[in-house]
Amino acid sequence: MSTAVVRVEYADGIASIVVNSPPVSTITAAVRSGLGAAITENTGRSDVRAVLMRCEGSTYFSGADINEFSGPPKEVEFRELFARLEQLKVPVVAAMHGTVLGGGLEISLACHYRVALAGTRMGLPEVSLGIIPGATGTQRLPRLIGVDKALELILSTKPIDAAAALKLGIIDAVLEGELASAAHAWVRALVAEGKGPRRTGEMTVDPASATPEILARHRAAGAKQYPHRQAWSTAIDAVSASVTKPFQQGLAYESELANLTKVTPEAKALIHVSFAERETRRVPGLPADVKGQAVRRAGIIGAGTMGGGIAICFANAGIPVTIVDINEAALKRGLGVVDGTLESMVKRGRISAADKAQRLGLISGSLNYADLASADVIIEAAVERMDLKQQVFRQIDAVAKPGALLATNTSTLDINAIAAAVKRPQDVIGLHFFSPANVMPLLEVIRTDQTSPAAIRTAMDLAKPLRKTPVLARVCYGFIGNRMMEGYAREAQRMVLEGATPRAIDTVLENWGMAMGILAVFDMAGVDVGVHVHRSNADKYPPDPSYYQADLALFDAGRLGQKTSKGYYRYEPGDRKRHDDPEALALLAAAARRLGVPQSEHSEQEILERCLYPLLNEGIRILEEGVALRAGDIDVVWTSGYGFPRYRGGPMFHADAMGLRSLYDGMLKYRARFGPMHWEPAPLLKRLVEEGRTLADWQRAESQKA
Ligand code: NAD
Repeated sequence: MSTAVVRVEYADGIASIVVNSPPVSTITAAVRSGLGAAITENTGRSDVRAVLMRCEGSTYFSGADINEFSGPPKEVEFRELFARLEQLKVPVVAAMHGTVLGGGLEISLACHYRVALAGTRMGLPEVSLGIIPGATGTQRLPRLIGVDKALELILSTKPIDAAAALKLGIIDAVLEGELASAAHAWVRALVAEGKGPRRTGEMTVDPASATPEILARHRAAGAKQYPHRQAWSTAIDAVSASVTKPFQQGLAYESELANLTKVTPEAKALIHVSFAERETRRVPGLPADVKGQAVRRAGIIGAGTMGGGIAICFANAGIPVTIVDINEAALKRGLGVVDGTLESMVKRGRISAADKAQRLGLISGSLNYADLASADVIIEAAVERMDLKQQVFRQIDAVAKPGALLATNTSTLDINAIAAAVKRPQDVIGLHFFSPANVMPLLEVIRTDQTSPAAIRTAMDLAKPLRKTPVLARVCYGFIGNRMMEGYAREAQRMVLEGATPRAIDTVLENWGMAMGILAVFDMAGVDVGVHVHRSNADKYPPDPSYYQADLALFDAGRLGQKTSKGYYRYEPGDRKRHDDPEALALLAAAARRLGVPQSEHSEQEILERCLYPLLNEGIRILEEGVALRAGDIDVVWTSGYGFPRYRGGPMFHADAMGLRSLYDGMLKYRARFGPMHWEPAPLLKRLVEEGRTLADWQRAESQKA
């Protein structure tokens, strides 16, 4: 039998069900129907001694079809298909390769035996999407490896490799060589040994793997790892039921829980962000035939914090990179930091010593711009000064090969003005990495008025080997992320002048789900960094005498944050734990008196609203101005670069979730209290509220226009 995506081949008494569903063998409706037909054909065939199931292309089943998540429940359909597979009278063997996730792993658990090529990775990431493995995984996996280990895998959400899966007992063998023939040989041997079906559904769970202590340990770890979330806890409920409930009842319970989790705000938000992250690379309006250029060699100007981190990204990707700095001392210091960063990766077991040596071998230092002549991309990460950056770009212009991408890592400067310094402005682009550049997944890509489509494509494609999520933006002060940060942090700083403590503000933000309170962020990044930015951009801000004055009060007193052990908080040397500091409060109170800032009480609600509303409102402006391509891009910027809780879906998703009307009314409430300078609702917000539409509605309509 054969359908467009599934065919069955017969050889040596073995029926091989072969799935061909590129690009990643998703278990689509077509695949399920093909599998159903293949099972029907093999049910009761006397010449078939075993069934082998494998996928062609880059991977075995990578998972269920995420597009189906929002539709009617599919659990029962999956369950019935898997049951028919499991009930075949001859041994059924799953032969895996690639990355096997979610439903992909669950279908193999319904087979009687599992083998995988060396290097195959497999896991159950559902909890990271706010759902649970709902295609029999919570009942089958513990029958194979016990509740404790099953929960470890499910709650970690991370894939493990074939060797680890063999050790755990998830698979029966790790195969080498070419999958089809190696798996066929393995099945022939199985048949020769006279092995029959071995159904997971007929196994029982070892109760010793689910003692109250074990379950309590997972509950405690889950609560810590996933604050404010619930899918992890529901997963524990489902998996532990495998001990007490017979298989069929367990499956019914699993379906019930799976359907409950799918409609939670948490799942909707997490699935939204996951979709949005896949979307960012798509650039509407770029002609389809525009090709970026492959980056085989890179250059970096500036061996400082950012330059070094970016160099590690290239080396991690196997791309040779040359860093240029102004003098031997700066270069040496920078390369020393790079060495130290790689060494700490070795110490933490992230890479081997050989990996480190190989990566260091890809990074070279130079004092000569001419050494960048063969680079396909050159990223400037020197100090944040326009005259200096223009000078650097003129020097790059003189040596770079034709067509090389000329990028700046500036956070605040006008990239149009930087591009004006060179004879090839079409090749100039912003590549805004976040600190630490080798860790943070976000990459803002900023196109100027003249950046060519090919340069945009090159930059967006470059994100892939660098393992970054690229988000395209247009030039404006702060681009997407920092521009939205401006009002959020402004209010936090204003409230400490009004008498709120830094701890009160940070606690509210962290309890709401921000990875770190904004004032603690300033202490970590350096209070001086913000002060310098605000000094050099003074002409861009509204005429508010209290604007970012809390930072300045601390800065003037030499409190630069963690690096001086004093900022908004006090720190013990070598420790990042925040201690309240009356000295900081006194300085802030004195600044408030000097500036005439009235003192007030701040409820938790007020703290949250005053920080959050400007952030959301500015995001809506950015959207309307076309600075960001899509609402989802803004969500990705803030969830992957600024610690906004993923389970709230990002600022634009959250604005819809809380209701645009509440946001609008909230802006008006504070406008009435503080005046219009900072509290004018974005025009698009006002319009959507009047029309009774959401940002998602607006986005859909805009995407259809494009
Ligand atoms: P840094 O001070 O750590 O490093 C700057 C390096 O550039 C120094 O080694 C310096 O010697 C070198 N340099 C100065 N002039 C040079 C020249 N003409 N040619 C070659 N090298 C020169 O600075 P950083 O924190 O790495 O920031 C670099 C850039 O990245 C700035 O534009 C900054 O705004 C931006 N940025 C910084 C961060 C951050 O968190 N630090 C985040 C995003 C973007």
